[in-house]
Order: sequence, then C-alpha cells, then structure tokens
Amino acid sequence: MPVLSNLWRIYLFVITSSITALVLLGVFQWNKVKQDADTELRYLNNVSFTSTRAMLSYQKSIFDSLSDEIVALDLTNDIDKLNEMVKRVVKNNSEVTAIMVRDPEGGLILTSGEIANTDGLPSLLSDPITQYNFQRALAQNALVIGNNRFIPWLNKQVIGVHYAVRQKGKVIAVLTSAIEHSIDGSAWNNSQLTRGTILQLFRDDYHFIYSSRPQYKKNPKEYLIPIPEEMVNYFIDQLQIQAGISSEELRSSGQLISVNALFEPGMDALFTIRYEPYYRYYTLSSIERSSLYGNFLPKFIWQIAIIIAFNILLFLMFNFFNREQKKSQKRLLFQANHDQLTGLPNRYYLAEHFHSWSQACEGRFALFFIDLDNFKVINDHYGHATGDKILIEVAQRIEAQFKDLNIRHGGDEFIIFIPENDGAYLVQLANNFINDLMQPITADNTEFSVTSSIGIVCAPSNGQELGTLLSKADIAMYEAKKHRNEAFLFSDELEQRSAYNTAIERELRTAVERDEIAMMYQPQIDSNTGNTIGVEALVRWNNRELGNVPPSDFIPIAESMGLMNELGQFITLRAIEEIEEVCQQTGPLRLSINVSVQQLLTEGFFEFFQEEIKRRGNDNLSLMLEVTESMFIEDLKLAVFVLQRFSDIGVEISLDDFGTGFSSLSLLADLPIHELKIDKSFIDKILTDEKAKRLMHSIISIGKDLKLTTVAEGVEDQEQLAVLQFFGCDLIQGYYYSKPLSKADLLAFLLTSDNKVLGKN
Ligand code: C2E
Ligand code: CA
Ligand code: CA
Repeated sequence: MPVLSNLWRIYLFVITSSITALVLLGVFQWNKVKQDADTELRYLNNVSFTSTRAMLSYQKSIFDSLSDEIVALDLTNDIDKLNEMVKRVVKNNSEVTAIMVRDPEGGLILTSGEIANTDGLPSLLSDPITQYNFQRALAQNALVIGNNRFIPWLNKQVIGVHYAVRQKGKVIAVLTSAIEHSIDGSAWNNSQLTRGTILQLFRDDYHFIYSSRPQYKKNPKEYLIPIPEEMVNYFIDQLQIQAGISSEELRSSGQLISVNALFEPGMDALFTIRYEPYYRYYTLSSIERSSLYGNFLPKFIWQIAIIIAFNILLFLMFNFFNREQKKSQKRLLFQANHDQLTGLPNRYYLAEHFHSWSQACEGRFALFFIDLDNFKVINDHYGHATGDKILIEVAQRIEAQFKDLNIRHGGDEFIIFIPENDGAYLVQLANNFINDLMQPITADNTEFSVTSSIGIVCAPSNGQELGTLLSKADIAMYEAKKHRNEAFLFSDELEQRSAYNTAIERELRTAVERDEIAMMYQPQIDSNTGNTIGVEALVRWNNRELGNVPPSDFIPIAESMGLMNELGQFITLRAIEEIEEVCQQTGPLRLSINVSVQQLLTEGFFEFFQEEIKRRGNDNLSLMLEVTESMFIEDLKLAVFVLQRFSDIGVEISLDDFGTGFSSLSLLADLPIHELKIDKSFIDKILTDEKAKRLMHSIISIGKDLKLTTVAEGVEDQEQLAVLQFFGCDLIQGYYYSKPLSKADLLAFLLTSDNKVLGKN
C-alpha cells in the first residue's frame, strides 16, 4: 500500500476537519431551528391557552350575572323581563351570537333573536349531539364547553357553552350561549400560524374544540367525531416515553410541556401541550418535523455546497502541489543519480539498479572498467576546462558504442554494463572501443589522442555481487594499465598474482630490516682464456612467508613503491663489501651491478656511489653498472649526461638485455657505454634459428666496430659457447659455467684450479 505523502495527510486532515465542522454546524443549526420552533409553539400555546381561558371566564361572568337575575325572577311570569335581559346581553357582547334559556328537561324557555319565533326546536336532551353536553352541564356546577358546530338557523359556525342555573342546589334552568367562531379572530388566528404549525384545543373527554387542520375548516362535521381512543393512548404513551410525564401529572401541574420529536403514528413532530383544570381543555401546538426542514435544509445545502466546492478547490491545489513536489523529487533523484558533466548515470545509480540489470539478463553479463591513461597529465597541462571537454567527448563515444548501461564512475573512470559474457568477444569489443577512442579529440584547438585501459569481468564466472565484480574489474584494469591502451580479461590467476603482489608489497618494506635480502654473484668468463674476469651481482629475497621471491617479481614493485632507492643502496653496499673481500684473496675482479632507470635518476645516487669508491680506494675492484635500453627512451640527453658522470669517475656502463627493444643501432656510437650484453632470448635461439644466429653475428661485429665489449648471457651448453666463440663474443655468462653463487661459493669457484682468475696467469 503506498504511503500517503505529508501533503495528502494535510489534505485529509483539512477535509475531515471541514466535514466535522460542517456536521457540527448542521447539528447546531438544526437544534436552533427546533429551539426556535419550540419557542414559537410555546408562545402560540400560551396565547391560545390564556385567550381561551379569558374568553370562557368572560362567558362565565355573563352567565353568573344572568343566573343571579334568573334566580330573582319568577320564570313563569317574568318571561318578558328575562327576554329583554338576554337580548341586552347579546347586543352588548359582540362575541355572543345567541343565548338560549332552557328548562332542566331541555325544553326551550326563550332564545335571543329571530329564533324565538322558530317553533319545533328539538329538545336539547333528545338531540344526540347536544344531549351529551346538556347532561354534562346538568351534572357539573361549572361552565361546560359544548361542540364546535354549524348552526343552520344562525348560519354560523359556533361553539356552544352551557351553564346550569341552580337555586338551592337544584337546577332551574340551563343557559346556552353560542360563541361565534372567534377562532379565526384574534385568539386562534390561523393566519398567525407559520406554515406547518397546527393548533388544537380539545376537551378532557378528547372532543376537539378547535383544530387548525384544514379538514376541520373544510368539513366542520369532523368536530363531532372524538379523537380515537388508540390515538389518545398512543399520545399518552409517547408523552411518558419522550417527556417522562403521565397524563395525570400533565393535568395536575397545569404546566406547559414541550416534547421534542413526539410521535403520532405516521407523524414525526414537535409538540407543546397544556391543560386548563377549571374549564377542562387542552391546548396543543405542534409542528411537523418535515416542515422544519424547509427552515433548515436550504441554508445547510448551501453550506454543504460551499464546503464541497472548498474541498474540490483544495484538492486541485494539493494535487498541483503534489505533482510539483513529485517533479522536483524526480529532478533531485535524477541529479543525485547522474553525473552533471556528461549526463551519464553515476555510481549511485549503478548501485541502485545493478540488481535489476543483472536479473534482466539472468546474471550473464560483463562489466568494462575503463580508465583513461594519463588523464591527469591533460588536466595539469591544459586545465580542467579542456579536461572536461575531453571527458564529454569520451562519454559521447561510449554512448555511441555501448547501448546498455554506461556509468561515469568518477574522474576518468567509466563502467559499461554489457549483457554478454563470452570472453573472446568481450576482449574484441573492448579493443574496438580503445581504437575508437584513440581517434583524435579536438578540444580548445588542440588535438588529443586518448588512450585507455579496460579491465573486463564476467558474471557469473567472476562473481555476482557488484562490489566483488568491481574490485576484480579494477585488478584487471590495473593489469591492462601495465601495458597501456589494452583490454584485460580478469582471471583467477590474475587475482592470485594480484594477491601475491599485495603480499610482496606488504613484506618488502621490512625485508632489509629482517635480513631477508642476500646477494648472489654469477661469474663472467673470458671466451678466449676461460678466465673469470668479473661477476654480476643478483639480488635474492627469501621471505618468511613467500619463500624465495624472484627479483623479476619484487623489483618492479619496489620501484612502484618508491623503495628501490633504499634497496639499491643496500645492494650496492653489500655487493661492493662482499666482492671486495673476495678480491683480497683472488686478485682483480669486476663487479657488475644492475641499476634501474629510477635509481639512476634519483638525486644523490651518483654522489653515494662516488663516495663509496673514494672510501674504499681498492685497486683490485672495478665497478660496472648494468642499465637497460629503456634508460634512453624517455629523455636521451639526460640519460647520456647521467651515465657520462659515472663513466668519468671510472665506472663502466653495460647495456643489458640488448636486442629486446631498442632498435636504432646507429645511436649506440653516441652513448657513453662500454659493454653490450646480448639478451638470453638470442642465445636460446642461435642453434635453431638461422636468422637469430646471423643477427647475433652482426651485433658482435658492431660491438667490435664500436670498441664495445660483448657479453652473452644465459649460455647453457657447449654448442652455444662454440658458436659465440666462433663469432668472437668477448665474455660468457651462464649456467654452462656457473649459476649465481653466494660469496663463499664464489670464492670456492674462483679458487679451484679450473677457473683461473684474470691476473692470476
Ligand atoms: P638480468 O640482469 O638480465 O639477469 C640475468 C638473469 O638471468 C638472472 O636472473 C640470472 O639468474 C639468469 N641467468 C643467468 N644465466 C642463466 C642461464 O644460463 N640460464 C637461465 N635460465 N637463466 C640464467 P635473476 O637473478 O632472476 O634476475 C632477473 C632480473 O632481475 C635481472 O635480469 C635483473 O633485471 C633483475 N635484477 C636482479 N638483481 C638485481 C639487482 O640487484 N638490482 C636490480 N636493479 N635488478 C636486479
Ligand atoms: Ca643484468
Ligand atoms: Ca639481462
């Protein structure tokens, strides 16, 4: 499941809080609407309750004064007086439409208005509608509210009010007054009711006195039907459940009770109710809940719409910000994973994506570790700006050649991912690229030919992990570097050699200290006389861990570690010291010491040598330096100068390994050398290879022409010796005469009768 970004969390928070606020606002507003409705209902209830009571009280006062007078009159004789009285009352009270006076049996005694003439009015007691109320009036010493009904002869909707006139507790007459439906007047004014509000008045026997429900207005006969009993019971139950009040409590308290959400079956409404104990009526104001929605919903829907719009706007905003954030994250990620200069992915990219690349080719692939040769020189000589341009061009050539994953690993190093692992093909591919890269690159008006070295590793044969593969590619690259401008395939043997070289490096530092270094001397024999005229000093290292380490293995390492100067001084001192001792017993001897170019060019080496010769002043010992042809490759003038100085103080120079590289024979004449040492590789071939044999002859001839001594090294048998003697080679060195010998063995060798030492003859 994707994790929500902080931005979306904020958005979610804003949304939830705005929705919560909306809900709270809705609840608050709904409560407010209900509260307002309740206030209104209570007000309406109060007004109807009090005005009804006031009206009834007024009626009662009229009845009271009328009944006082009736008691004083003799009803059979003073009927005209009574009639007059009644008419006056009706006239003076606009609300009173008519008054009837009846005897206790319901017979009409008189009536106000025209009705007086209308005979045949039924006895109230025999009329089923009025009978009930008339009997209630007889039974109660109180004003009785009758029915709300239409009186045809009045042509009016009126409410009857009955009152029994009593003399000494005995009913002598019943007064009935028809109050005009003042309900539509001020007291129960329908038009004052807000939409949905219903006002109802009913008696304690659940007959309606008034209802503002439209069906009662349309069809007043509805008033004659009492409220059904189950409705009353339901209502009483709800009163108990919703407001915790029984109908007795309601009647006895006389309080106005508000009930929220009281249910009449099928009607969800708010109610207020109050009971009048004297006149025995209830006032009930109610409003259907659904009609409150009209006050609440429009506003609330607007608010919802605003919040939705707000949230949509916010969503668009957050979405925009989110996209921007993602874009900049992507940009940052790209920057972090790519090299700014060349635009190639960098080592972090490689580390992150290596696994998926490896998987994509089922673990069978190769890595090229490309390192430019001498790039530092370009940077130092031409500046970094030029260096950068060359790197960009190199990157472009890489991209043109390799289509998979090309990485700039740093500086002038590149790593190429190639989904192949055939060694021969890879070497071919790498060499092609090396050639391609050598094509001139023009930067800042200068043409450069960039050479490079490539180390190649293959997966899975060389490993699967990036770290392992890279370090192996590095080893292969270093091997390639030795040859420059070459590609080299990693092999286990290479790794072993690399480990061996590392061990040499580690052990070599303390080799002299631990006295592991010794010198051996190989005799050089005059081919004519068979006398030993000198020895070549050869260094030996017997290490505690590595055993005998041949000089060809550790001399180059000593040079690369900068140890050669120190080691060379040790060799020189030891060799001079030992051969000096030998000389003392054998007579004059020439000591040839191998010196590397680096050694010769090190400051102070000449002075050291000079000092050594002076200090000893031994006439029996003459010195010779063996240098290789590489000495003259880098800086000929400097080489000539350095060697001349040695020559000047009587140290001779031998050109070692002659014939293996240096080609210009014409140059030999100008060099301050005294000896040509023909390489063993020629000696090895002279018996089998006619060409080598002739070349050997030429070399010896040239040496003679230039007055140089010629030495053949590595002579192993009689036949070789015979050829060399025939060609006139001066000196012979090799196993045929002797292997390199320790000081003691050398002494023994020289003192045996077979080996005459020069000067002993
Ligand atoms: P190099 O100067 O060409 O030495 C001659 C090498 O050929 C020596 O090997 C020697 O033991 C070997 N050799 C001589 N005669 C024969 C023969 O008949 N048959 C065969 N198979 N080999 C023969 P080594 O001692 O292993 O030296 C190897 C190289 O190490 C030397 O080549 C030289 O370049 C370098 N080296 C040896 N000692 C020193 C030293 O003291 N200082 C410096 N700078 N380099 C040294
Ligand atoms: Ca040598
Ligand atoms: Ca040699």
